[in-house]
Amino acid sequence: MKNKITRRALVKGGLLAGTLIPAFDLIGNSASAAADLTPLDPKDPAAITLGFLDDSTKVDAAANPRYAAGQRCDNCQQYLGHAGELRGGCVLFAGKSVPAAGWCKVWRKMP
Ligand code: SF4
Repeated sequence: MKNKITRRALVKGGLLAGTLIPAFDLIGNSASAAADLTPLDPKDPAAITLGFLDDSTKVDAAANPRYAAGQRCDNCQQYLGHAGELRGGCVLFAGKSVPAAGWCKVWRKMP
């Protein structure tokens, strides 16, 4: 028995692979991006310097007059995570992830 691969089958297979491979690559990258980062330890010297906290609701407003309720990492200009994710990267802490609900003294409103 002879298997015959038609030109049409090759074109269809190529188009399907060309569509699916980049889609799977995107899914894989977004799923692993935050997971590949080390969670930022609030006791890290750089985190202490910037007053970083895992939970923005615990910010001492008297000691941080620029803080306003509602400021969180996931609405900060420096946040690299995606909407709905619990953690994401931060421009200031390379290789680390910060919680979406975190906060530090250099929080900047997202444009
Ligand atoms: Fe969170 Fe923004 Fe501070 Fe990074 S710079 S830790 S995203 S508040």
